[in-house]
Amino acid sequence: MWKIPPVSRKNLLRRDAHQCQYCGNGKHLTIDHIIPRSKGGKHSWNNVVIACAVYNSRKGNKTPQEAGMTLESKPKAPIQPTVAFAEQFWQQQNLNINQE
Ligand SMILES: [Zn+2]
Repeated sequence: MWKIPPVSRKNLLRRDAHQCQYCGNGKHLTIDHIIPRSKGGKHSWNNVVIACAVYNSRKGNKTPQEAGMTLESKPKAPIQPTVAFAEQFWQQQNLNINQE
């Protein structure tokens, strides 16, 4: 059985393609809690993103809204590899149908 992987730095970097989710920077990457833990934010896939040190310290103990920052995409848990494969497969099928 496939389980949702743990929210680790390694898995987050993979999901977010080694890029800051606020500015796209690929250097000095840290883990940012979107809703800060001090405000009850959870350490879960949809509340944690990769952020560069600059943006992480700019954001500090605020939510992105309070800090006037926007996320490039809504964070979510990685999907099961076989589901990802199936989605790709059906997209390919649709392409073939549309071309006919
Ligand atoms: Zn950044």
